[in-house]
Amino acid sequence: MPRIAYVNGRYVAHREASVHVEDRGYQFADGVYEVCEVARGHIIDMTGHLNRLERSLRELSIGWPVRRAALEVVIGEVIRRNRVSDGLVYVQVTRGVANRDFVFPANARPSLVVIAKKADPAINAKRAETGIKVITVPETRWDRVDIKTVGLLPNVLAKQRAKEAGAQEAWFVDVDGNVKEGGSSNAWIVTADGKLVTRPADEGILRGITRTTLFAVAKSLGLVVEERYFSVEEAKAAREAFITSATTVVMPVVAIDGQPIANGHPGSVALSLREAFFDVAEKRPA
Ligand code: PLP
Repeated sequence: MPRIAYVNGRYVAHREASVHVEDRGYQFADGVYEVCEVARGHIIDMTGHLNRLERSLRELSIGWPVRRAALEVVIGEVIRRNRVSDGLVYVQVTRGVANRDFVFPANARPSLVVIAKKADPAINAKRAETGIKVITVPETRWDRVDIKTVGLLPNVLAKQRAKEAGAQEAWFVDVDGNVKEGGSSNAWIVTADGKLVTRPADEGILRGITRTTLFAVAKSLGLVVEERYFSVEEAKAAREAFITSATTVVMPVVAIDGQPIANGHPGSVALSLREAFFDVAEKRPA
């Protein structure tokens, strides 16, 4: 079955889906995006993702390409047309097409692209059984990483470095040696007394939607969350570490910079959070 993408009002064959060479997303990374997980035919936390999209657009003074209700219909339609029961849906909005000029164009219409992709949930489940390795890298991104822009070159380079080091994620570290977040995930640790620790949102990280839902998941399990800074050293000595993102949900981290975390196996807290996640997350039939 051929894949279908939505591009500016049309459902087109994925292999032919394209935008103009003067799209500002292409030339300036002048655009934003969202990724929602699709699990068992449901879109996970769509309200949170669209709220964050709204904020990203507002912060950059980009208009909605279509009304929010219409975007929800398009998202559902792309998922249906691609028969995605498990996988992800990607939404990208740019400032639109205009003659190349740094300042905002007067009359450009925002561009909208929606793509859906199948993913085998067994792959992530298997990965959670072994856990992932992370490396730490110095922060090289701009200050506004709270906006989910398509300007992801530092993330690309960091994740490539992780891959070359035999790891699956890179954690950005601030000048004081504190962990910020991953190239495409939020970072967490579990302390010796069982508390969850994650960096405060708005302090140099993206407010992950999975991160936000995890506060409620933790509460449902009677776990305490502390939003505070934690250093690379504290993370290496932690009882557990894990990451959260829409595509990985909760994924245990078993080594940081080649150093095993605790016994080097996924921790029970991370695994129970992973297990309980879908009971708490918002699920909308696609
Ligand atoms: N931090 C960064 C830099 C990301 O790119 C992502 C997701 O792509 C996240 C955190 C996790 O956010 P979410 O849980 O909304 O997927």
